[in-house]
Amino acid sequence: MRSVYRRDPCLGLGYGVSSFIAAVNVWAAGSEEQCRQVAGLLLKNRKVAVAHHELAHGNDMVGTEFEAMPGPDGRLLLNGRKEVVTNIRRADAVVMFARTDCGPGSRSHSQILVDKARIPDGRMRYLPRYSTVGMRGVQLGGMEFQDCPLPADTMVGPQGHGLETALKSFQVTRTTLVAMFTGILDTALRTTLRHLASRRLYGRPVTELPEVHSVLAATHADLLLCDAFSTVAARAIHLAPAETAIYSSAVKFFVSKVLMDAMHRLSTLLGAHFYVREGDHAIFQKLLRDNQLAGFGRAARAACQMQLLPQLPLLARRSWRGAEALPEELFRLDAELPPVPFERLAVSAGGRERLKLLAGGRLVRGARNRPQPPRDPAGRRPPHGRTAGTRRRVRAPPRHRTDRRGELRHLRPHAPLRERPGGRRVRRTVARKPEPPRPVPQGSGLAGGRPRQNPRAAGQPARTASRLPRTASLRRVDGTS
Ligand SMILES: Cc1cc2nc3c(=O)[nH]c(=O)nc-3n(C[C@H](O)[C@H](O)[C@H](O)COP(=O)(O)OP(=O)(O)OC[C@H]3O[C@@H](n4cnc5c(N)ncnc54)[C@H](O)[C@@H]3O)c2cc1C
Repeated sequence: MRSVYRRDPCLGLGYGVSSFIAAVNVWAAGSEEQCRQVAGLLLKNRKVAVAHHELAHGNDMVGTEFEAMPGPDGRLLLNGRKEVVTNIRRADAVVMFARTDCGPGSRSHSQILVDKARIPDGRMRYLPRYSTVGMRGVQLGGMEFQDCPLPADTMVGPQGHGLETALKSFQVTRTTLVAMFTGILDTALRTTLRHLASRRLYGRPVTELPEVHSVLAATHADLLLCDAFSTVAARAIHLAPAETAIYSSAVKFFVSKVLMDAMHRLSTLLGAHFYVREGDHAIFQKLLRDNQLAGFGRAARAACQMQLLPQLPLLARRSWRGAEALPEELFRLDAELPPVPFERLAVSAGGRERLKLLAGGRLVRGARNRPQPPRDPAGRRPPHGRTAGTRRRVRAPPRHRTDRRGELRHLRPHAPLRERPGGRRVRRTVARKPEPPRPVPQGSGLAGGRPRQNPRAAGQPARTASRLPRTASLRRVDGTS
């Protein structure tokens, strides 16, 4: 899919991802019969859509109003609308997030697999597409139901478990979608590089300007970083599913931001050509617009961050303790992966997180218990902050300080060293000689106010400084205060 996104993100979303993000919910919680039904559609190159979000509630899925209330005859009655759904008209089936209980809380919603062939006539109508800034090639639209009866066996998983199923499925889709979006940056970087390499300024290719060179190199590093992190996180879905609740949110939050920032930097490198809608580099505009979906599609970055936060205390308490290292296959791209164990995905990682462990169970540098610097021949460790063979860090003397009134007290930067009684040599700081007060120009608005000067430097005791009337500094230049 990454290769498809390199060519056209709309093609990726419309012809691959849309069915994938729908089907994942069925693989995670659906019955065998539902899995067979969805697999049958996909194998016949048919499409399945997912209608989770509502325009009015966005990421707040608990606020979902679309309802599928169980009726007295055991059937579900569908009422409400979903407005922004990919492939809504093309799909043969739709996985819908619906309220199945009037009460508040996270157990009031379920997922329904709606086979369009089973919708009675006149109970559903399509809503028009909202025009969008990006992803314009994707078929978007909505659907509205009115008292539409459906058999109860259309429910995916137990009643009331819709949110839990969605949160588990998000772990798969958030990780993999962001990984696919790295393909956009790949093409954007190549496009920019091609344009800049063929453009000459100051008698040489623009790519040879140091600043341009460094932005291109940094963007390439970002691309590799995003690729590496999202690939490892995607492989963790197979190999460490119990921890995916951490990795998926982290990848979505972090990688999407790096991608968006990198695209922005490249757009500035293209300069005015970024606006030109002709030529090879015109594709950049489209990629930049399509890429924005990385930040909010399936979930807002902030929402992912909010899902990480409650897990941090448990991580802090448990994740350091003697855990086994992650399997090496996680980092080996050529290693075979087992099928995704959906039943082992968990809404919370429960304090488990082992990416900081290296093979053999050692903690990576920077984590607690990091490897200690080697001892010297006498068996001593180097003093804190120093490792053998490194130079001691010396803090530079302050060039200036700010006193309580925010005025600068200038110090001589290279005052001579003098001996202290204990033998320590310290740098003596010498206050500059105070300047005489400047005459206040008539009509400047400052007449009557005090000229700004450093009271300490002027020989006044320090406490006087804090007693200066505030009006002196608050007086406006038009003479009012
Ligand atoms: C091209 C395209 C295709 C789409 N396809 C589908 C589809 O097939 N199926 C589908 O169901 N939906 C689809 N959508 C809808 C999409 O998933 C929406 O992005 C989703 O509804 C989220 O809502 P929102 O972006 O309006 O954000 P809102 O939830 O309205 O967020 C608004 C602001 O609040 C912040 N925020 C939200 N939650 C939190 C939180 N918990 N903590 C802190 N801040 C928060 C966000 O960062 C954001 O700044 C599609 C959208 C587009 C553009």
